[in-house]
Amino acid sequence: MHSDRFPFALPHLDRNALARSERGFLERIRREPSTRIAAVYDRQLAVVPAGGGETGERLRWFIADEFPGFLREHPETLWLYLGRQDGVDVVAIVIPELVEGMSTREWRTGVVWRELRQFVEGGAWSECEVALPAVALANWHVTALFCGRCGGRTQLSQSGWVRVCENCSVEHFPRTDAAVIMAVVDEDDRLLLGNSTKWPRNRFSTLAGFVEPGETLEAAVRREVLEETSVRVSDVAYWESQPWPFPASLMLGYFARAVSHSIVVEEDEIREARWFTRAELRDGAERGSIGLPGATTIARGLIEVWLAGEHRL
Ligand SMILES: [Zn+2]
Repeated sequence: MHSDRFPFALPHLDRNALARSERGFLERIRREPSTRIAAVYDRQLAVVPAGGGETGERLRWFIADEFPGFLREHPETLWLYLGRQDGVDVVAIVIPELVEGMSTREWRTGVVWRELRQFVEGGAWSECEVALPAVALANWHVTALFCGRCGGRTQLSQSGWVRVCENCSVEHFPRTDAAVIMAVVDEDDRLLLGNSTKWPRNRFSTLAGFVEPGETLEAAVRREVLEETSVRVSDVAYWESQPWPFPASLMLGYFARAVSHSIVVEEDEIREARWFTRAELRDGAERGSIGLPGATTIARGLIEVWLAGEHRL
């Protein structure tokens, strides 16, 4: 079921996967004056801050000539092809801390940087489609410099979407770690939300957790709800997904039907979990006594669909 409340399911970025795997493609595209280049540094993105009256920040787009030559042409500077958007090729450059011992700090101080999480919460949807894979890929390259099979060095390939071992030639692909996030609803149509030990005491959100090897997504939903709150779940229905590269997750969103009510929280992760009626949650959120996740998160999407009574189980 698609919901207009949560537009991640409608991509406007063509990843152009056939073209990007051609040898030399990225080297050619990144030099084209029409190519838009996003800059990434340490999980942050170069942005143009929102002016007065504007909603949301925008990515700052560069062309190749705006980067100093030592940075642009150095073989260790990471370039990544992201795809085509509105008929224009979109590329990312990952700015290193140092290039041959020279700090890139001076260049970086001329740019406004924003953490990905903050940028996503700012709400520029079309640009999140670029920002998310840019930072996700940059995160992966940092951890994939050596082959997991033989320990040899790896080389970037296919415009940044593959790394190939120089020694044993095995191809390594970017990782995505599956995580489930679920809105658990009881027969009185109340919603189960939890307060993480990492959050302020009044912030409540849907439960979530990682999928384990050899486990189905449905089993992961049931196991995580049981582990975190002792609530048992029967029916599980998929809703939508959201890339969540902190550092490499994909959030798979579910609605789930509870078949038990009493709550015993797993105290290391969850400080408190509660059943909410719609009136309780709406009133609490309006008065500010309950904090909810940001408008662009899948957690909030699940909550809003339940609030509107549009969920299906
Ligand atoms: Zn190898």
